[in-house]
Amino acid sequence: MITVEEARALLFDLVSPLASEEVPLTDAAGRVLARDVSATRDQPPFAASSMDGYALKSAEVELHAMFKVIGESAAGRRFEGRVGAGQAVRIFTGAPIPEGADFVVIQEDTDRRGDLITITEEPGPKTNIRPAGIDFTAGTTIQAPRIIRPEDVALMAAMNIPTVPVARKPVVALISTGDELVMPGDEPGPDQIIASNTFGLKAMLESAGAQVRILPIAKDTVASLEAAFGLAAGADLVVTIGGASVGEYDLVADVSQALGMERSFYKIRMRPGKPLMAGRLGQTAMVGLPGNPVSAMVCGYLFLLPMVRRMLGIEQVLMPFQRAQLAEPIDKNGPREHYMRAVLSEDGIRACADQDSSLLSVLAQANALLVRDPHDPARAKGDEVLYLPI
Ligand code: AMP
Ligand code: MG
Repeated sequence: MITVEEARALLFDLVSPLASEEVPLTDAAGRVLARDVSATRDQPPFAASSMDGYALKSAEVELHAMFKVIGESAAGRRFEGRVGAGQAVRIFTGAPIPEGADFVVIQEDTDRRGDLITITEEPGPKTNIRPAGIDFTAGTTIQAPRIIRPEDVALMAAMNIPTVPVARKPVVALISTGDELVMPGDEPGPDQIIASNTFGLKAMLESAGAQVRILPIAKDTVASLEAAFGLAAGADLVVTIGGASVGEYDLVADVSQALGMERSFYKIRMRPGKPLMAGRLGQTAMVGLPGNPVSAMVCGYLFLLPMVRRMLGIEQVLMPFQRAQLAEPIDKNGPREHYMRAVLSEDGIRACADQDSSLLSVLAQANALLVRDPHDPARAKGDEVLYLPI
């Protein structure tokens, strides 16, 4: 059996960064920028007023000084003339500063009678002018790779970038296996349960930027599993759920092997999720997750999400561990690395009482996975431990 770290290295060998595609700016949020993009213009493209007021010469600014208003500069419509001595131009936020002016007295510091204004309050040293290119200049770049945030979308729009090169979304096909499973909304028989893992994993992987296809549930027969693998064609990653253990109905290993899977590994020294297999089926990476719902979800966090991030070209594929103090003591750990469902709150981190890997209700209450090394000794309240937020 290999460690989580060794498993990850092998899993990363199965996938590589995908090609890029162009999407409209309106669809870019949440995608991964694949190439640097750069501004095609300066912002602002001209020196602009940052306030409503009067543009004039700074050398003439003093309390009680009077000026003749000779025109108006509005946002989108500049004053074409020149400001001379003793003259002012009415100006609004975002409007170009007229030639000859180098100061904006804010409206609140003036009194206007007809064409004349008087400075009635000490204006202070601030010019209220935004120099041309103060935000960015032509050629300023936004660097790839990065997950595009709403703020980046706004910046790209201002830079006049209407389409954005992003990493293609990795296509992940999810296959649930088991005669006992039906889809949510279906009528389960007395010995049946509802397939849950596929839906949790779809949500998890899509929030990380994958495009997920849930395939029909495969029965515990060779023919049904083969048919499911057939439907997964074209995916970048095929994930089976369940059937990965050693029971009579655990057919995933046999069937995938018969279809030509080159196995990379089987079994990881961890809890939950020991029976995890991985390999390559032609061009497609394949991961066989254990069926227990908590195992499948935890393996999703630990293995599938980093694989998706790698395909997206994201540099930081692993979420860094965080530190917290135990709010309650915990027992010594066994021989396998353990990812315990835990709740982090203001008074520290607390491992959930029941760590059975079938309990989705416990997982849904948890907001952290408390990470234990193999043979980690018992820990006392207040001890520092590592965790991953979920
Ligand atoms: P298996 O690995 O197929 O032996 O499954 C282990 C346990 O997980 C069994 O109790 C299954 O019923 C359950 N299980 C397997 N797949 C799923 C699934 N997609 N959703 C919910 N439970 C599942
Ligand atoms: Mg099964």
